[in-house]
This record gives sequence, C-alpha cells and structure tokens, in this order.
Amino acid sequence: MVIKIGVSSCLAGHRVRYDGEDQRCLVVERELGLRFELIPICPEVGAGMPVPRPPIQIMQGGAGIRVCEVEDHAHDVTQQLRSYAQRLIAELEPELSGFVFKSRSPSCGIDDTPCFDEDGLQQLSVGAGLFAGMLKERFPLLPLIDEWKLEQPGQCRAFIRRVREYALTPLPGV
Ligand code: SF4
Repeated sequence: MVIKIGVSSCLAGHRVRYDGEDQRCLVVERELGLRFELIPICPEVGAGMPVPRPPIQIMQGGAGIRVCEVEDHAHDVTQQLRSYAQRLIAELEPELSGFVFKSRSPSCGIDDTPCFDEDGLQQLSVGAGLFAGMLKERFPLLPLIDEWKLEQPGQCRAFIRRVREYALTPLPGV
C-alpha cells in the first residue's frame, strides 16, 4: 500500500518561495521520502502567484482575516488563495494521510504564523496560515507537522506512526 503525504513544495527543494529560493529540508527526504510518496504542494504558486513575488502577511480586521502584500495592503490576495485552497482540498480528500508544512508561512504555517492588525504593523497573535488552517478545519484528524518539529527525532517518529494509523483507518461510510 502506497501512503501519500503532502509537503510544502519549498521544503521538498522546489524554488517556489517569494524570494525565488527553496527551503529544502533534508529530514523530509531522509525520514519520509523512503517511507511515503511525497506530494509537493505550493498553495501560493498553485493559486497563480509568480516566483519571485512580493511577500504577503495575514491581517485581522473588522472584515475578518485578510492576506495582503506586506508593502501594499491594497493588494489583497485572500480570495485568490482561498478559492484555490477550496478546490485543492476537495481534490486531495481521498489521497493524503498527512502533511508536512513550512513553519511561519502565511499560507503553510500550522500554528506559528504571525497575524497582524488591520494596518499590518502590530503583531496580534500567531496561528495557522490560510491553506493549513483550511486543511485543518476540513480534516481535523489529519496528521500535520512542520519542519521544526520534524527535526526532533521523537516528534518525527510520532508523526510517522500517526500517518500509518491514519492511512489504515477506513474513511467514514466506506
Ligand atoms: S506557500 Fe508554502 S509551499 Fe509555497 S513557498 Fe510558501 S511556505 Fe513554501
């Protein structure tokens, strides 16, 4: 049985970051690449954003969460990212048994992405990036980890175990 897990494309060595670089994570290849089929996904490039591109940030205001360019808050990419994420999550539904995310990213962070006020100046809190948050909401039991935690051997082993258990759990109604 082939078990598939998603991985933020930049961690898999793809040069898709806003600055045109990657964030290759050797632990992903060494510990997960031989055990699972890795599916690289970049929710920003998938949504049509170029490489390189202006950096974006999450902002919380009266209208709720927005994702905007750091240097130009009038350039709001929330809907562009959200629409793509909805389509992608629907496609991924039967496929994945886990996901390795890039920490602190406005799209991929699991729980440590900075969230700023509506002027984009003051950090209010930390939380999930847009795509990771939507994936968590849709699949609350899906095993997730970021590259920092993956680099800790105990957390890495626990993640591998959880992915295998999740893959063996029948989907509801099947
Ligand atoms: S959106 Fe995610 S996968 Fe794409 S560059 Fe940013 S952190 Fe990496």
